[in-house]
Amino acid sequence: MTTSTPSSSQGESLRLGRATIRDVVPYPTERSPCAADLSDNTNLFGAPPAALRELTTAGRDEITRYPGLHARRLREALADYAGVRSDQVVSGCGSDDVIDSAVRAFAEPGERLAYSDPTFSMIPVFAKVNGLVPSPVRFASSGDIDPDALLATEARIIYICSPNNPTGSLATRRLVDRVIERAPGIVIIDEAYAEFTDDGRVSEAPDHDRVLVTRTLSKAFGMAGFRIGYGTGSASLVHEIEKVRGPYKENTPAERAAACALREDVSWMRALAAKAVENRERFADALRANGLAPLPSAANFLLVPIANVALVAQQMRDRGIAVRPYPGLPGIGDALRITIGPWALMELALDALLEVRAAAVTIESAG
Ligand SMILES: *Cc1c(COP(=O)(O)O)cnc(C)c1O
Repeated sequence: MTTSTPSSSQGESLRLGRATIRDVVPYPTERSPCAADLSDNTNLFGAPPAALRELTTAGRDEITRYPGLHARRLREALADYAGVRSDQVVSGCGSDDVIDSAVRAFAEPGERLAYSDPTFSMIPVFAKVNGLVPSPVRFASSGDIDPDALLATEARIIYICSPNNPTGSLATRRLVDRVIERAPGIVIIDEAYAEFTDDGRVSEAPDHDRVLVTRTLSKAFGMAGFRIGYGTGSASLVHEIEKVRGPYKENTPAERAAACALREDVSWMRALAAKAVENRERFADALRANGLAPLPSAANFLLVPIANVALVAQQMRDRGIAVRPYPGLPGIGDALRITIGPWALMELALDALLEVRAAAVTIESAG
């Protein structure tokens, strides 16, 4: 045994820890202050007015008692927003919690979880911490999902993210239908960014017995700090997930504030989502005008292929702009993911990116 001191996030794995989680790296949640944080795809325009109003009125009982007071209200508000019955919706501590619980509910340890790579970085982690085998497959050369590659894994759980994080691509409906028709187990469709598109099947999920569609209040709705996500599916599918998730995952003040935002602030959300889409296209044009080639995106972020991405991100960070580096993505290479927000922030990001790139070119040509 060596006696190296654990660093902040990567302590030496404890030998008593389960073998399947030994190589899991904790999700980086450090958020030191910066001029513009364009790293996590949250709503950079602000929080819903009704949620802010409700937060200031938390009563004593909401703090001393276990949640439950407003869970029904939240569930009904989610069901109305999603267009399903309230027994067809399951909420959780973020959609992360809903996905993680679904993995546990529908697969035994040793079974597979298939997904198109690259996708949401938590998916292989949810597979491993639940004892499943992650089965990444390639996207088709068109950038769309490859249904037959996903089905060929014979995975108990197939995960499809649409729009996909980090590429921004939409999965074509017909291809998703093919997966649903032939999957041996359940299909999880992660629609964390659906509010930025006209696409989505959150209301249709209950028509199938094997489809869970997950969504979140963390992105377009601007409530990531509340940690509320949900899934829709048939009543019996949702019931299985609830058994695994357990009680009291959301806190009472967040439940109440979120329920009010879902009732009162949908048009607020839609207007800002439309603004994000407008700024995304404007930002993509500006990147292209400068010789960069962002991938087409249906979400509130852009993926921009660029060499030496770790260094580029670090140097942008030194200039006060946080973005997310993705080194060596399959089929893409090094790329930067940039969240879209108010135009003033996008200008800061563009300036920093071009400055960093110009400096790198100077060094290369000098060397
Ligand atoms: C952000 C994100 C989530 C998680 O959202 P929470 O509801 O905050 O847990 C889920 N899926 C994808 C693809 C995301 O990007």
